Amino acid sequence: MTTTVLTKEDIDWGNLGFDYKPTTYRFVATYKDGAWSEGELITSQTVQVHEGSTSLHYGQQCFEGMKAQTAKDGRVLLFRPELNAERMRQSCERLSMAEVPEELFLRGVKEAVRANYSFIPPYGSGAALYIRPMLLGTGENLGLRPAPEYEFRVFVSPVGPYYKGTGLSLIKLAVTDYDRAAPSGTGAVKVGGNYAGGFIATKIAKELGANEALYLDAATRTYLEEAGSANIVISLSGNRLITPLSPAILPSITRRSVMQIAKDELGMETEERPIHFVNEFSEFEEMGACGTAAVISPVQAILHKNEWMYMKNSREGVGPVMQKLYNALTQIQKGERTDPFGWTVEVEL
Ligand SMILES: *Cc1c(COP(=O)(O)O)cnc(C)c1O
Repeated sequence: MTTTVLTKEDIDWGNLGFDYKPTTYRFVATYKDGAWSEGELITSQTVQVHEGSTSLHYGQQCFEGMKAQTAKDGRVLLFRPELNAERMRQSCERLSMAEVPEELFLRGVKEAVRANYSFIPPYGSGAALYIRPMLLGTGENLGLRPAPEYEFRVFVSPVGPYYKGTGLSLIKLAVTDYDRAAPSGTGAVKVGGNYAGGFIATKIAKELGANEALYLDAATRTYLEEAGSANIVISLSGNRLITPLSPAILPSITRRSVMQIAKDELGMETEERPIHFVNEFSEFEEMGACGTAAVISPVQAILHKNEWMYMKNSREGVGPVMQKLYNALTQIQKGERTDPFGWTVEVEL
């Protein structure tokens, strides 16, 4: 273990984008002959794997995304990391990969954060330390079968907002002709194979003037699913917040938290159910795209079949519901108020 050096890098924290910025250490553990190694911190940014690795040929790979933030009192906080460990376990199960034990997952995350202390953005900078745990199928292989070996790696990078703009800025989404995930496919797990197919949809969405693609259900193209890397929540009149129910959506930890805040703190009536995009759109007051990277980005409009459709309460600016949810969530994440749900986990320095 390294001893933490409590100094900060000379970085313009306020102007970071969502890009890879090299840090000093990453945590790596390997699975071989049916057992995990203890794991260690290394400095190499390069992964070396066999040319036959299943992660390279067959997409036997999964990952997670989380953030560490500095609280006002200097503590470094993770947000519900045990849920990321559990979701990676589900991804492993779906792709027949060796499971990363929760203890190893959490230790890897904490060690990677602690070892790169100097890269954790200071409180108030608007930036965070993005954490990317990943699991790769490795080892000699050729046929269609699960890998004999695995590498679990956690690297980190200081990041600014995912969508450019300061504070809460409105985004736009566009429905394209591409699907993200089939109903009984792999949409509900965070596996690499789900994403390359979406690059073209994102590219088209951007060319059409949106920030990101929005997906409808692949079977009928009528029900709302999610954006490229964020789940959707929608406020309706009568203090209600709804979110799509579908087996192809990646279950966002941010969304789960936002729904609970809405119910327990804002007294909203919350519901997860199929949402018919065209038939129900006129009722949408505000929409938010939620995820670790997006936090909760208010959606102003959606391009669907060449028509821009605007949310009722977002024409002029960020609506009150998304603003309240954003404030409540980020205040907990940054330790700016007591954490009534016990969601934050401190990384001991
Ligand atoms: C990671 C991800 C999300 C957001 O999940 P969080 O746990 O909130 O970070 C949403 N949708 C997709 C497709 C994702 O990959």
